[in-house]
Amino acid sequence: MQNYQEVIHKQRQYFSQEHTKSIDFRLDALEKLRHLIRSNEEELMKALKTDLNKSNFDAYITEIGILLEEVRFTIKHLKKWAKPRSVKSSLAQIGSRSFIYPEPYGVALIIAPWNYPLQLALAPVIGAIAAGNCVILKPSELTPKTSELISKLISHTFPEDYITVIQGGVDTSQALLNEKFDYIFFTGSVPVGKVIMEAAAKHLTPVTLELGGKSPCIVHKDANLKLAAKRIAWGKFLNAGQTCVAPDYLFVHNEIKTEFLEHLTSAIREMYGEAVLESGSRFTRIISERHFDRLTPFLTNGRIVSGGQYNRSALMIEPTVLESITWNDEVMKDEIFGPILPVLGYDDLQTMIEEVNQRPKPLALYLFSESVEIQQRILGSISFGGGCINDTVYHLSSPYLPFGGVGESGIGAYHGKGSFDVFSHEKSILKQTTRFDLPFRYPNTKDGLKKIKKFIK
Ligand code: NAD
Repeated sequence: MQNYQEVIHKQRQYFSQEHTKSIDFRLDALEKLRHLIRSNEEELMKALKTDLNKSNFDAYITEIGILLEEVRFTIKHLKKWAKPRSVKSSLAQIGSRSFIYPEPYGVALIIAPWNYPLQLALAPVIGAIAAGNCVILKPSELTPKTSELISKLISHTFPEDYITVIQGGVDTSQALLNEKFDYIFFTGSVPVGKVIMEAAAKHLTPVTLELGGKSPCIVHKDANLKLAAKRIAWGKFLNAGQTCVAPDYLFVHNEIKTEFLEHLTSAIREMYGEAVLESGSRFTRIISERHFDRLTPFLTNGRIVSGGQYNRSALMIEPTVLESITWNDEVMKDEIFGPILPVLGYDDLQTMIEEVNQRPKPLALYLFSESVEIQQRILGSISFGGGCINDTVYHLSSPYLPFGGVGESGIGAYHGKGSFDVFSHEKSILKQTTRFDLPFRYPNTKDGLKKIKKFIK
């Protein structure tokens, strides 16, 4: 196992020289990152095409565009976020003033997955820079072209002592985790999330864990079915279903199930055409043979309503919808993470809610219903990271909505100010007056306790 102490030590020294604490320095680094993305847009698209067969459209809207928006928003608001905030002091602290000082942790480790290999590597870097940290980034080994390009561009733009990319797989990740960091930001699967948290616990390093799981999508009988089908087909089959917040499975009210499935089949055909498996297709491919071989057995579960064909040599699976599914089917055991959408039916809302609640808290949940009452009921009775009403996946693109999981789907949330907050420690400071000194707190004050009790009701 390689030893990463030296690079971490160099970053610690760099951090201790306080370069990264200046707001101008941070803004300059964010501008550089923005320039890096903008001026290499084509090369980045090419790498994403090679690694995942991502179309330029998908590469832009789900990776490059999201990063540019995130960096723009951060640059615009950073001065305000980084300022110490004045807060109230309590009655017992008369004469004093209270402040919260956001401060950087120091050296942050960011570990990224392969499904949005650019966006999920660099979005946390934006937060880390904004908050004034040094960064070691470990991108995914499963997208070698994109990870190589990120490494090259970062090394040309920033000194290694400030931001560096370390490429490699599980061994590299584990060697890094043996070292002490000041913060660890991990995006990936639930099982690996547990490995990360265990390693972090040894040094009591704080973590953000952006994990996954099975995110339900509920279609109630009063939904606008045609629009629901279109928005679900988009959110599920974007990136061939390899999206942490993709609807993992559908729960559709039995009264409208047949009609809804017809709309869904048409929406898939309209969006992706019939030639998904043919060469030159703009559909994203499955990341590896291992993932492909994990997914194809699911196609024998239930009954195929739409799709179902695949091509192993091209690592392509058609957008597929499966009906007559139960919780006992293999496809319902773990997060699917592929273009396969199983459909469960329900008659009674309460029973459906209970079934969802028997499983780990999802990263996302989507509800299609026109009824405010139903919307409130679902929001009030199911705990999940975040989601949409009458849409899928879209909540992720707002810098005003912190994005993260709850329970097994993750710890912490980022995007927009959330990213700055994740990488900042909030230092609480009470500035005491020296003009007077309230005597009650001292043990030798006459009737001190009585007077204190007047303040504390
Ligand atoms: P993964 O957990 O296999 O790998 C993620 C990263 O961890 C990679 O860089 C990998 O090298 C490293 N890693 C893998 N095994 C490790 C180990 N044993 N010890 C230390 N490091 C290890 O995840 P993945 O397959 O790259 O991504 C898919 C998963 O990520 C899905 O579960 C998905 O839901 C989740 N995900 C979550 C989000 C989110 O924002 N919440 C976003 C994308 C993906």
